[in-house]
Amino acid sequence: MTRRSDLLLDPHHHASDLPKGIKLLHDPLLNKGTAFSQAERDSLGIHGLLPPRLFTQDEQVTRVMENVRRKPNNLEKYIYMIGLQDRNETLFYRVLVENLAELMPIIYTPTVGQACMEYGEIFRRARGLFITKYDRGHIREIMRNWPNEDVRMIVVTDGERILGLGDLGANGMGIPVGKLSLYTGCAGIHPAYTLPITLDVGTNNETLRNDPLYIGLQEPRLRGPEYDALIEEFIEAATEVFPRAVVQLEDFGNSNAFRLLTKYRDQVCLFDDDIQGTAAVVVAGLFSAMRITGGTFADHRFLFVGAGQANLGAGELLVLAMVSQGMSEKEARERCWFVDSTGLMVSSRTDLSAQKRPFAHEAPFLKTPLEAVEFVKPTALIGAAGQAKMFPEAVIRAMGKLNDRPIIFALSNPTSNSECSAEEAYTYTEGRAIFASGSPFPPFTYNGKTFVPGQGNNSYIFPGVGLGLIASNATRVPEEMFLVAAQTLAKEVAQEDLDLGRIYPPLNRVRDVSAKIAEAVANIAYRDGLTADKKPADLAEHIKNIMFQPVYQDYV
Ligand code: NAD
Repeated sequence: MTRRSDLLLDPHHHASDLPKGIKLLHDPLLNKGTAFSQAERDSLGIHGLLPPRLFTQDEQVTRVMENVRRKPNNLEKYIYMIGLQDRNETLFYRVLVENLAELMPIIYTPTVGQACMEYGEIFRRARGLFITKYDRGHIREIMRNWPNEDVRMIVVTDGERILGLGDLGANGMGIPVGKLSLYTGCAGIHPAYTLPITLDVGTNNETLRNDPLYIGLQEPRLRGPEYDALIEEFIEAATEVFPRAVVQLEDFGNSNAFRLLTKYRDQVCLFDDDIQGTAAVVVAGLFSAMRITGGTFADHRFLFVGAGQANLGAGELLVLAMVSQGMSEKEARERCWFVDSTGLMVSSRTDLSAQKRPFAHEAPFLKTPLEAVEFVKPTALIGAAGQAKMFPEAVIRAMGKLNDRPIIFALSNPTSNSECSAEEAYTYTEGRAIFASGSPFPPFTYNGKTFVPGQGNNSYIFPGVGLGLIASNATRVPEEMFLVAAQTLAKEVAQEDLDLGRIYPPLNRVRDVSAKIAEAVANIAYRDGLTADKKPADLAEHIKNIMFQPVYQDYV
């Protein structure tokens, strides 16, 4: 019997292998709905199970978008889109790819955050694998329940720190599902390769635990050695059952994210997007900004406000970038300063975690970002503290006084948590700021010049990195892959983008950008012997060929 994965991945399905009748219509990876031809309807046992009029995929796309746009709010749009994904994935991805800028905020942030908060209420159909602490000793068997044998991309969360929303327990499943949709939408990773997983280890969110419609274990979070043992078994099972899979850690709490990344990155093919993907997008933004300011990183000083997964990851990758430009690690670290929730990270502090220590410098302790700006005199200010209004007028004006072209990134999400708005950054620097944000801001006109602020969206990075790992069958994810991803992304920014103040390419170019990033990432795997594969003669062509195109195949 043909394996299901082989059937789904075969670009030319054989009618004899396909499920027939209602089973075919209920298989979202094979269903075409009203677009089944008459010949297909006759020979696949579905004649009469569909309305008689045949529609093209184009016509279906029109119907879907009319439906989406008619919905009264974004959560309803989300529910509608997930319903489509559960019925007809090819159509779902065609719609997504053609309307990425409109639909990304629906199937991912910010709407997916609201969807996760209300996951129990809006729950319709399960997608992905749920593994709980009670599954210890049986995780392999559970993984074998997944219908597709050749999984290549796993996104796993334990739901502890979902976006900026905190502990959402099993409701966090919306994130791996949404993120994997972006792997497919933004980089053409075949949906049959993807597997969302939630490790339900309970939740410390009491409101959720007491919610009668909550979908997960109504218990406090598992911690300590039992938690670690569950993760260990999960990693072993994942690599045994799906030996070619990349594991992407997603939205783990701070106490686990760094630890798990450090422990497993050298053992299996694994990365953490919150730390490493964000880092690459931030460093790409800095590379682009440098095209405007001129000079190299050696001419800059960076002040990070917030010292969590996003900013510490960015700091580490920035150090690697500077070292690759010829600086010593010590010199590179001296250019990176951090303010955390207590204040400036200085050597005299005794409360700094192992991740923060390497960025603590000999200096007086200062409490506020303004004091830190005046002391450090940074050329770039990078906010990811998850707290609103961390860059008030005085901070922005101070940056404007210190620099001709101050670099100001306000990365905290959602918009209401942004360190400052695009309007504030441009206004208080008389239009001189090089600004990027985590949440999208509309174009802003200052003194007759219109600025289009760039969004430091991780979706520019992780899909391409995943595609490169899959294309090369890589066995590990060294940090350098994120550095080349950042360099590649920055190179894809056109002069016209920079002229508009945009330091990232427009989102509608993301599939091309992902293919380029994939090539750079795969090159490292071949160069460093991180794959048993031989490098294809035409790597770009190889990558293009494995990208999923959301168009229907003829079945007969
Ligand atoms: P995190 O919880 O790991 O880190 C936040 C850090 O900020 C913590 O270390 C906290 O101590 C610190 N902090 C809190 N209050 C502070 C204050 N008043 N002053 C200074 N520091 C303070 O979260 P994270 O993953 O690092 O994400 C942080 C923010 O960045 C979130 O809003 C997230 O949405 C955003 N983010 C944006 C992108 C992007 O734009 N591509 C990517 C990832 C995260």
